[in-house]
Amino acid sequence: MKSSFFALSLKQRIRIFLFSVLTLLAVSLLGILLVQYYLKDMTRVADERLTLYENTLKLQLNKYSYLPFLVARSSLVRNFLVDGIDKAEVNVFLEEASHKADSTAVYLVDSSGIVLCSSNWNKDNSYIGLDLSFRPYFKEGIKGKEKRFYGVGFASEQPGYYISYPVMVNGSPKGVAVVKIDLSRLQTIWKDGGETIFVADSKDIIILSSRPAWQYRTLITLSPETLRTIQEGGQYPEPKLRRLEFEPVFSGMLNMVRIDGQYFRETTRHLKSMDWTISYFMGVRPLWERILGISLTSFVLIGLAILIRMFLNERHLKNVSRQQAREADKIQAINIRLEQEIKERERTERELRAAQKELIEAGKLAAVGEMATAVAHELNQPISALKMYVASCRLMLKRNKTTELDPTLVNVLGISDRMARVTEQLKSFARKSSECESEFDLREAVNATLALMKHQFELEGCEVMLNIPEYKVSLLGDCGRFEQVLINLFRNALDAMQGQENKLIGVNVQIEQEMVIVRVLDNGPGIDAEVDSSVFEPFVTTKKEGVGLGLGLSISYKIIKDMGGRIWVENRSEGGAEFCLKLPLYQRREDAND
Ligand code: ADP
Repeated sequence: MKSSFFALSLKQRIRIFLFSVLTLLAVSLLGILLVQYYLKDMTRVADERLTLYENTLKLQLNKYSYLPFLVARSSLVRNFLVDGIDKAEVNVFLEEASHKADSTAVYLVDSSGIVLCSSNWNKDNSYIGLDLSFRPYFKEGIKGKEKRFYGVGFASEQPGYYISYPVMVNGSPKGVAVVKIDLSRLQTIWKDGGETIFVADSKDIIILSSRPAWQYRTLITLSPETLRTIQEGGQYPEPKLRRLEFEPVFSGMLNMVRIDGQYFRETTRHLKSMDWTISYFMGVRPLWERILGISLTSFVLIGLAILIRMFLNERHLKNVSRQQAREADKIQAINIRLEQEIKERERTERELRAAQKELIEAGKLAAVGEMATAVAHELNQPISALKMYVASCRLMLKRNKTTELDPTLVNVLGISDRMARVTEQLKSFARKSSECESEFDLREAVNATLALMKHQFELEGCEVMLNIPEYKVSLLGDCGRFEQVLINLFRNALDAMQGQENKLIGVNVQIEQEMVIVRVLDNGPGIDAEVDSSVFEPFVTTKKEGVGLGLGLSISYKIIKDMGGRIWVENRSEGGAEFCLKLPLYQRREDAND
């Protein structure tokens, strides 16, 4: 895996990086949402619990609120305060009332603050005779007001909730009826339920708590004035009033506090009627555990996603390289096949070349044979004529007829000329393409040829019509050989028009773009249909024996081709043949650049 990651291209690595970042973001977001959801859930649970405990507390407190009122309104109690008789009856009445209501104690205090009667009159810890004049609930009660008070019992040292009510006789308070309620049972229930709760009074002193150690601890540092009031009212045991280590850590949704080194999520509510606050605490450990769990799951998920991505990438790369290997194999196979085909082709080519060579050899042999036949045929006749003339000359010499020798020798010369012409033609045919190429003016070549043939034209009474540009027409080639072509064409035209009355030869030169077209025409019989297009092949002739060897046009064809041109023949509609030569105009390099 490791090596394959580094073997990836930059693009692929960036892609994996982006994928990882996105996965991280997505999973983190999911984690945050889950934590948020969990916090909301915690808040909901805390609110529900708090409502439950608040209601239980209120119920507990209000359950007895009627009792001092009833005691204070009782005629038995009021009469007793006036006449002081029936004390025992009052005690029993209070005992029964307390028992029925399930309160801690119910008692009657006179106007000086001394307990006259009490529900626990017959107990060791009876309140009778106690001076409670310092108690705030007495002080307020004797002023004719109802009072609620929480504090530690004067005699019992047991904390309790006190509700007092004035006993009115003839419109003025003559005593105070008091009920004491024990709230310690609530604490036990909270504690047994595994909850962490406390109730703090308006002075920020914890009066009730599921944790006994927190009871009477303060949330703030108490002022001396407050301490004095507490002392005067004997409300709480002073040594216990120590500051609880309580500090907020996070506010907002987390709302986290640290109490005695422990972290809790706090939910607090104010109890208006008592001016108390009730706080419910949830341990943050489950929250941390949940967050840790979510984080771990997230990291595992991210790791898994990255591993899967890398694995898929690896597999993809393997597939690609396998595919490439397969393609490379295919290409190699194709290469091998191609090499084989090339070899095959080379072999075929070699065979073909050999066959061609053989054919050429055969063709050459055939041509040589053909030529040999033609030459033999051409030369046989003049040779036998020569033999005959030589024999006649010898006879004439024997007979001393020397005067007759001259005409016979003239004939011999004529025959020699003819034989020379044949060999000249053969030489021309055998000659290879000229290597002495140079620029020449077509007009000069035409004029030179016409000048050479002038005597012949006049002898045969042939008119020549010349249509040639006035400017220089440059061609590249062997001028001498080109002139040979023109001589050939003129001679053929003269031969074709032999015995004809009006003989005409025309030379027409025309420039077409970068080509020059030379037309040599006559008004003879035109090309014989029998030979027609084969006139340019060697040894094709319609001339009678001894006149033509059939090489002139094939030599011309070769010369024109060597000059990069073309030669062809057409019969004119008005009669006669027209030979066309199409040749490239020569442009000097510097001209061409202009
Ligand atoms: P040769 O002149 O020895 O016959 P050429 O190759 O020069 O050989 O000519 C081949 C043949 O082409 C001639 O025999 C003739 O039949 C035909 N030919 C050439 N020029 C003309 C022409 N101007 N008019 C008619 N036929 C021609």
